[in-house]
Amino acid sequence: MEHLVKNLDENVLKDFSSKIRGEVVLPENASYNKLRKVYNAMIDKHPGLIVKCLDVADVIYSVNFGRENNLLVAVKGGGHNGGGLGLCDDGMVIDLSGIKYVKVDPAGKTVRVGGGNIWGEVDHATHAFGLAVPAGIISTTGVGGLTLGGGVGYLSRKFGLTIDNLLEADMVLADGSFVTVNKNNYPDLFWAIRGGGGNFGIITSFKFQAHELKTVFGGPTLWPIEKTEEIMKWFDSFIHHAPDDLNGFIATLIVPGPPFPEHLHNKKFCGIVWCYTGDMKKVDEVFQPVRDLKPVFEHMGEMPYPSIQTLFDGLYPPGLQWYWRADFFNEISPEARAEHLKFGSKIPTPFSAMHMYPISGAAERVGNDETPWAYRDAKYAGVIVGVDPDPANAEKITNWCKDYWEALHPYSAGGAYSNFMMDEGQDRVKASYKDNYDRLAEIKHIYDPDNFFRVNQNIKPKKK
Ligand SMILES: Cc1cc2nc3c(=O)[nH]c(=O)nc-3n(C[C@H](O)[C@H](O)[C@H](O)COP(=O)(O)OP(=O)(O)OC[C@H]3O[C@@H](n4cnc5c(N)ncnc54)[C@H](O)[C@@H]3O)c2cc1C
Repeated sequence: MEHLVKNLDENVLKDFSSKIRGEVVLPENASYNKLRKVYNAMIDKHPGLIVKCLDVADVIYSVNFGRENNLLVAVKGGGHNGGGLGLCDDGMVIDLSGIKYVKVDPAGKTVRVGGGNIWGEVDHATHAFGLAVPAGIISTTGVGGLTLGGGVGYLSRKFGLTIDNLLEADMVLADGSFVTVNKNNYPDLFWAIRGGGGNFGIITSFKFQAHELKTVFGGPTLWPIEKTEEIMKWFDSFIHHAPDDLNGFIATLIVPGPPFPEHLHNKKFCGIVWCYTGDMKKVDEVFQPVRDLKPVFEHMGEMPYPSIQTLFDGLYPPGLQWYWRADFFNEISPEARAEHLKFGSKIPTPFSAMHMYPISGAAERVGNDETPWAYRDAKYAGVIVGVDPDPANAEKITNWCKDYWEALHPYSAGGAYSNFMMDEGQDRVKASYKDNYDRLAEIKHIYDPDNFFRVNQNIKPKKK
């Protein structure tokens, strides 16, 4: 059983504070309540101590302090995790949000990113050089958590998952040592962090492969919710055979309000949000099959890549209540389509939605065991989110999300994308990593035998 921060000797804390260049924040300090907040307002954890690190030395001192004093330790990157895995109660939070820098190497087409950056900062820096790194679909998500879990987004079909573009990482391990991992140096650790989450250490710096990409063509197309089965059937037969340049995620959703036209407000739809990275002269040809399906609303155009990354930022500001459920799917079967229609017609609040992200193109051309991300052969990473600003609706959004998930789960591939899960227990973590779980557990045993990094989708150390 770990010690509580509040029971630590005052002098021990003072000595620790004197070593830290960043901020050491206790519950009585003014910045405590701001720093203990995460993106999901449903999470209300009270750490005993938050260390806002400014450099690698701060991280090393914090890890050593946590280990020597037997504290429960959480690591916070962008703070977006649905289950609030960047925080813990009573223990210490190592907050990386002060370790931010983005350094682009235009000649080598690579980019170095701090452990605490968010994706919007990366997009801003790379765009100036006509480059982009594959990430998700919103710019406020942390680079740390998204990358370590996999990274599914608009560019997955073209350039692969985010982990497929990770070249190197600097890490602080559980014993306080510092290592640089890549395909030649600590290859076991380099394998494990490309999907295995924060289980193996704290990444203080990421090096990514970037790709030439200036503008994309994209945006939403909507059909009345009654057409869900028809549109999903078409999408399932279309997207995986489309050129890698074309990606789109399919959703059941409510149009919440502006900037959409008023006649759509508060109505339910089956929608697809598109992102095309190919030759702009071919846009009409590429989207003709979509337009043949006569969407009731289309709002697509050419835009800078950072713009598509920020399309949803305004709709989803920090501080909403979020409840998450997820699964991988090999297809959208007729039975699943019927459930999508049923639960899509019952979406409880305007920001709640279901999304399915295709896993095909470059993302599926990586073997299931080449990284811990074990579902390259699934066709979709699906996620259902109950979302609302009002805590009074927490039960309503949670129940809808759970019921939708339970209805779909029998048609799923078994596990879920770890970054789309809440804190759901060991069986779900094992299902996420499938055949890769044992190898992850053995690597965990080598580098973190005492499970020091355990506030995450936890992989239990296991001796080979
Ligand atoms: C609105 C929204 C949209 C999203 N869209 C997408 C999407 O399109 N694609 C996608 O793949 N995911 C998406 N996600 C999920 C996202 O990938 C996860 O929530 C992820 O955990 C967020 O990372 P973070 O650093 O912000 O989170 P945090 O809560 O800070 O951390 C999450 C986990 O990662 C660990 N961690 C974070 N940084 C580090 C680090 N530097 N070193 C070691 N461990 C670290 C933490 O310890 C924790 O276990 C979305 C989430 C939200 C809320």
